Amino acid sequence: MVDVSEGITDRFGRKFEKLRVSLINECNFACTYCVSDDANGRNHLEPNINTAPHQKRLNTREFIESITLVHDIVNLKSIRLTGGEPLLYPDLAGIIREIKLLGIDDIRLTTNAYYLKDKSVELKQSGLRAINISLDAVDGEIFRMMSGNQRMQRVLDGVDDALDAGLDVKLNAVIMKGKNDNQIIPLLRYAGHKGIDIRYLELMKMGHLYHHMDGFFFSQQNILDVIQANYFITEVSRKKSSTSNYWNVPGIGNFGIIANESVPFCGDCNRLRMDSFGNFYGCLSSSVGIPLMKESGNREKTVDSLKRLLSYKQSHHFKGNEMTMRYIGG
Ligand code: SF4
Repeated sequence: MVDVSEGITDRFGRKFEKLRVSLINECNFACTYCVSDDANGRNHLEPNINTAPHQKRLNTREFIESITLVHDIVNLKSIRLTGGEPLLYPDLAGIIREIKLLGIDDIRLTTNAYYLKDKSVELKQSGLRAINISLDAVDGEIFRMMSGNQRMQRVLDGVDDALDAGLDVKLNAVIMKGKNDNQIIPLLRYAGHKGIDIRYLELMKMGHLYHHMDGFFFSQQNILDVIQANYFITEVSRKKSSTSNYWNVPGIGNFGIIANESVPFCGDCNRLRMDSFGNFYGCLSSSVGIPLMKESGNREKTVDSLKRLLSYKQSHHFKGNEMTMRYIGG
């Protein structure tokens, strides 16, 4: 039974408060955990099981209509813009301004920062508050192996550009056993040197990793063992609905671990997702997308659909999904 008096809430007291919007399902990188290597090498994209061929990507006006529809019902607290790679979305500053006009102040971005240099000031002035930058290595060769891109320096320049613009910057690093686990300490020191937090991510059973993670899985405990072999750390209490657990390293700063496999965080999940075709998803483990705008004229129907999306949430543990991150925005 889903209670609607206090907004749309499920039996665990969860409700949608944060919306993650995949603005575009294209990316200029080919990260090894997102895009599968096949017999002929890289860039083999799994077809999206959910995008019917006739569906077209939304433009800014259509995105804002969909966001407004949901915001009117659930009163969103925060919006995160993702992709694929959101810096490839042609009207990024424009859509941030439009979201701000809806009265949503907490606007965030997740990016590989390759195109970020000289853009951060404009994005901040448009209303962007915080930015998560994906950086899986600070060694050029390992960076190339992880991302399929040879120009790591452009990403590091993007980090500096965001900091200079006064954005709240965090780093995200997906750790894979035998691929970049030797970058855990260099990344921690780089983040400490920049005065920013880094979050290490456990691999997720998404896309081509859905059926098997080929022995690349490196758990929260594995990451902590590496760091504790070098530093004394203290645990920092977890914020409600946060995906990350945090620790402090004296003299360096805080780091986090997003451990969706070994320390699940479904219990207080408040995230709703939307792909670049206008389909909404209640849970990352569910590939059932509902194009809410199609029901926009009927508020009751939209409320029922949001209830249905909320009911797709896992009670305890992420189950994985055949969809790739670049479609649903992670
Ligand atoms: S698996 Fe679903 S319920 Fe669990 S944290 Fe992810 S989105 Fe939330």
